Amino acid sequence: MKYSAPEFMGALPPELEELKQLVRGVVQRECIPLESKFLTHRPGDEPDPKGGAWLETPTTRNETLVDGALTQADWDRLTRISKETGLYSATLPEEYGGFGFGVLGSFVIAEEFKRSVVPLPVPEAPPVLFDCSEIQREKYLEPTIRGEKEYCFCQTEPDAGSDPGSMRTTAVREGDEWVINGTKTFISRADRATYQLVLAVTDPEKRQHGGITMFIVDADTPGITLAPIDTWLAQKAGQFTITYDNVRVPAENLVGEEGGGFRLGQSWLIISDRLTRGSMATGFLTRGLEMAVEWSKARETFGKPIAERQAIQWMLVDVFLDIKAIRAMSYECATRADRGEDVRTYAAAAKFMGGNWGHRSMDNIMQILGGMGEVLESPISHWYRGLRHGRIGGGTDEIQKMLMARAILNQGVSLWEA
Ligand SMILES: Cc1cc2nc3c(=O)[nH]c(=O)nc-3n(C[C@H](O)[C@H](O)[C@H](O)COP(=O)(O)OP(=O)(O)OC[C@H]3O[C@@H](n4cnc5c(N)ncnc54)[C@H](O)[C@@H]3O)c2cc1C
Repeated sequence: MKYSAPEFMGALPPELEELKQLVRGVVQRECIPLESKFLTHRPGDEPDPKGGAWLETPTTRNETLVDGALTQADWDRLTRISKETGLYSATLPEEYGGFGFGVLGSFVIAEEFKRSVVPLPVPEAPPVLFDCSEIQREKYLEPTIRGEKEYCFCQTEPDAGSDPGSMRTTAVREGDEWVINGTKTFISRADRATYQLVLAVTDPEKRQHGGITMFIVDADTPGITLAPIDTWLAQKAGQFTITYDNVRVPAENLVGEEGGGFRLGQSWLIISDRLTRGSMATGFLTRGLEMAVEWSKARETFGKPIAERQAIQWMLVDVFLDIKAIRAMSYECATRADRGEDVRTYAAAAKFMGGNWGHRSMDNIMQILGGMGEVLESPISHWYRGLRHGRIGGGTDEIQKMLMARAILNQGVSLWEA
C-alpha cells in the first residue's frame, strides 16, 4: 500500500489561511501603528486638535483591558475599514453578513485581532440571542449588531462564582411580568451596557437542572443599582456589583425556554469564552514572541546579544512550544464544534492552556525584555494582565481541570484516543 503524507495536522484549509492573511494584513497596517498613541492616552484626555475627543474603546471585550484611548477620528477610520473589509460582520450568522467559516473561522479571526491591543471595531453581539424571538431580535440583537446597544452577562454572585448552580437571585412570575431580586457581582461593562443578560432561579428545586432562566433586562429598569469594583485588569470601575430590588421584566424578555438559562449560559461560555481564551493566548504570544526574538538579537550584555545565552534561548523555546500546543488544542476544539460534537472537555482544555500556559509564556516574554517588558507604552504588561485574568475569569483553572478530570474518568480511553 502506498502511503501519502497528509497536510500536517494543524494546517488550515486554504480559504481560512487566506482569511488569516487578510486579517493579519489589516491589523498590521491599521491597528499596530496606533498602539503607542493608544497606550499613552486615557479616555477624557484633552481633545486632540486633529482627531477630536479621546474615546474609551471597547477593549474590555473578552475581558482584556481598558488601558488606552483612541481619538474619534481614528475610531471612525478603523470602523470604516472594518466595514469595508467585511470583518465587521465576519463572525456573525450569514444572514447578518457573516463569512460562514464556523467556529474555526471565528477562532482564526480572533487570534489575528488579538495581535494588537488596538481593537478593530466589531459588534459585540451575544450568540445566545442568535436564536431569539422576533421581538428580541428587533429590540436587542439587531441594534447590537448595528453598534447602537451593548450588553453585559450577569451570572456570578457574591456566593456563587465557580458554582453558579448555587446562585440566589430569583425571578418570580407575576401576570405577564417576572420580578427579579438578588445581587450579581464582578460584572464587566455593566456601566456601558444598555441591557443585561441575567440568570435567575425560577425553580429552586431544579436549579441548574431546569430551574435557572435567562432574562434580558433593560439597564434603566427601576430597581437596578450599580456599585463599581476596581480590579487591576481594567483599573477604575471595570467591573460592577449589581443589585436587583423588585425589578420587573416583561415575559417576552425571557430568553429561550423557562428553565433553560443555565444550559444557554454554559453553552455560550464554552464557545464564546473558554475557546476564546485560546485565541487570546496565541494572538498575544505570537506577537510577543516576535518582539522577544527581535529584542534578544539586538540587546547586548557583556559583549554579545542576549539571544546567544542559553537561558534566553530556552525561554524562547518554551514560548514556542506553548503557542503550538495551545493552537493545536484550540483548532481541534473548534473543528469538533463545527462538526456538531460536544466540546466541553476540549473547550476546558483550551481555556486552561490559554490562561495558565499563556500566562507563563507571557511571563517569559516579559523576562526576556527586562525592564522594557514592564513599560506601559508597550503591550507586554497589558497582555500579561489579560492572560493572568484568563486563569480566573470565565471559570478558574481548577474548574477547567475538574471538568477535564470528569471526562477522563467517565469517558476513559475514547477521550484521548479520539
Ligand atoms: C475582572 C473580572 C471580570 C469578570 N467578569 C464577569 C462577567 O462579566 N460576568 C460574570 O458573570 N462574571 C464575571 N466575573 C466572575 C468570574 O467568572 C468569577 O470570578 C470566576 O468564575 C471565579 O469565581 P469566584 O471569584 O467566586 O471564585 P470562587 O468560586 O470563590 O473560587 C475561589 C478559589 O477556589 C477554587 N475552587 C472553587 N471550587 C473548587 C473546586 N470544586 N475544586 C478546586 N478548587 C475550587 C477556585 O478555582 C478559586 O481558585 C469576572 C471576574 C473578574 C475578576
